[in-house]
Amino acid sequence: GKTTAAQQEAAEEALHNGLTGRSFSQKYKDILAKRRELPVNKQRQNFLDLIHNNQFVVLVGETGSGKTTQIPQYVVLDMLPQIEGKIIACTQPRRVAAMSVAQRVAEELDVKLGQEVGYSIRFEECTSSKTVLKYCTDGMLLREAMSDNMLSRYSAIILDEAHERTLNTDILMSLMKNIASKRRDIKVVVMSATLDSEKFQKYFNDAPLLTVPGRTFPVEIYYTPEPERDYLESAIKTALQIHATEPEGDILIFLTGEEEIEEACRLLRARGDDIIRSANCGPLLIVPLYSTLPPNMQQKIFEKAPEPRTKGGAPGRKIVVSTNVAETSLTIDGIVYVIDPGFSKQKVYNPRVRVESLLVSPISRAAAQQRAGRAGRTRPGKCFRLYTEKSYNNDLIEQTYPEILRSNLGSIVLQLKKLGINDLVHLDLMDPCAPEVLMRALELLHYLGALDDDANLTPIGHAISEFPIDPQLAKMIISAVEYGCTNEVLSIAAMLSVPNVFLRPREAQRAADMAKAEFAHMDGDHMTLLNVYHSYKSSSEPSQWCWDNFLQYRSLKSADNIREQLRRVAVKNNIPLLSNNFSSPEYYPKIRKALTAGYFMQVAHLERNGQYLTVKDNQIVLLHPSSVLERKPEWVIYNEFVLTKRHYIRTATEIKPEWLLEIAAHYYELSNFPPCEGKRILEKIALRNAIVQDEQERKKRKKEKKDK
Ligand code: ADP
Ligand code: MG
Repeated sequence: GKTTAAQQEAAEEALHNGLTGRSFSQKYKDILAKRRELPVNKQRQNFLDLIHNNQFVVLVGETGSGKTTQIPQYVVLDMLPQIEGKIIACTQPRRVAAMSVAQRVAEELDVKLGQEVGYSIRFEECTSSKTVLKYCTDGMLLREAMSDNMLSRYSAIILDEAHERTLNTDILMSLMKNIASKRRDIKVVVMSATLDSEKFQKYFNDAPLLTVPGRTFPVEIYYTPEPERDYLESAIKTALQIHATEPEGDILIFLTGEEEIEEACRLLRARGDDIIRSANCGPLLIVPLYSTLPPNMQQKIFEKAPEPRTKGGAPGRKIVVSTNVAETSLTIDGIVYVIDPGFSKQKVYNPRVRVESLLVSPISRAAAQQRAGRAGRTRPGKCFRLYTEKSYNNDLIEQTYPEILRSNLGSIVLQLKKLGINDLVHLDLMDPCAPEVLMRALELLHYLGALDDDANLTPIGHAISEFPIDPQLAKMIISAVEYGCTNEVLSIAAMLSVPNVFLRPREAQRAADMAKAEFAHMDGDHMTLLNVYHSYKSSSEPSQWCWDNFLQYRSLKSADNIREQLRRVAVKNNIPLLSNNFSSPEYYPKIRKALTAGYFMQVAHLERNGQYLTVKDNQIVLLHPSSVLERKPEWVIYNEFVLTKRHYIRTATEIKPEWLLEIAAHYYELSNFPPCEGKRILEKIALRNAIVQDEQERKKRKKEKKDK
């Protein structure tokens, strides 16, 4: 290694591509010219000097300055992974960013995506033996560290978007500190758009800082005079008003998730057509962006705004409706107007009731500033905040709390155990996790049988950690062996791992409900999902079949793919693939028992007053309106607790109370339970069980006496 910027530039202008040996295409040369203008390129020599002389480098630069796409390439040119054998990874908190950036960098390097440049996200590996640069989610790299504790395949790790402080990035940072102290050859670059750089420098043993000055243009901020009741409606109105009255320039709207974004796009298309006709505006290109969008659709955000319909007519405009991913992870050139309703989906964890949810919550002032910044990339822009200035100053917090303080740590604790890190309390984290949250995680893993009394990983714990899914879900699969139904439970687990499969378009709700009723299973939502999966697999034209049945084809295809991956993990871990005879009366009860073995901590009981109460936590909950369980069975397990104004349980299935005592006796130690009807019923069953057992033992003893 130890190249200079001049040597690197010469390599980029050479006749042949150093990675493939092929000559460079014209497209490569065109992109190269643009890459040379990026602010990070002017800092290339400084960056190389720092990385040559330090193990850690902290790099801060405006969004769009070229950090994510260029820096990893500089490292590749410097370390020559294609010759040295050790490769480079760059982590991203978001799947879409990992995929989209990998695609772009593959183009920039004139290689095919998945060959020399690839990506790796949960349930999707797009790399090959030739891969020298890999973009991956932080979670995937953490998972890799479980089987390769020193990350020995890598010569450099670039942790991008560190300011997001996701749980996985925080743990990775701690891990990298540890690895770097043992591997003097590894380099670590920590990058971000906004960063409390001193805190990061200090954490990484006083690492040097490289600041990339960016070009930004002023952005005018507008607030609403009054709080908005319906931010979705207000965002659409604002966008159309911009289109009708403002000069050329694309619009970026921040919304919180897939459903909201699709709804907004639909409304924009419908109403956009009206104003285009009546107000004589230019044509609109409306594109959504969220994590579950297929890759070819994701690339649409980079398309140019449409041409005017007649020469010299009103200019066309692109409207991108996106989640937070467009805040700092992806740069879309040409944005001049930003609409910021002030919300995003954030992880919220309440350790007392052990509930983690994604909740639509107000963003921080730091995030609001980033969003506004997206309008000033290419020329002066405007940002429309759909909240009052007073609210910005008084209600928004300065910075979002790191995720580690508001997450369920179950899965992470298990992964760390596997890494041989036992002393979690003293793990060198940038912000230590809350003791109560940690305790809850250990408790959960103990109840699942993943940790023994001394908090050591058990064989079950090992198996659970092999699955890239929540510990409860993995436990359910492993337990299904005992009930002879791993095949069915794998299908259910896969269906639980994808976005909602049931479509319910506003204009066809009745028809959609009728279609869903065809799949409804008496026992509940899990079995209904199983029915859907089985029917999907036996349909001859899956995409048409999904359309006819109001099902999301994309989700089902993805479930099928996930099932295959889970199946492979199962096989690798000697978990036999079993099914019971379909005509046996035990076919469904056995599946429900396996579900119970994973989710015995998520049970609700219907009290006599007609309300469900969660067992042990005594929270009042409602069955989610989407549930097929209209008859309200007395005992249900549920997959998800939805925190909104009311508390809902979603995806529920009927169970029998005696199963709880049979399957999870250690958890159903009833003396610890607060009083409620459910507890009294379980106590009665426990008493009856004790009497029956007593009697059996007496009979046995009698028989033994007689036999003598
Ligand atoms: P940073 O990580 O500093 O925010 P990036 O490296 O992601 O910046 O992007 C640098 C520049 O590369 C962007 O300003 C944009 O011009 C260009 N770019 C990135 N991705 C794409 C893409 N998919 N299509 C076209 N241009 C892109
Ligand atoms: Mg970036």
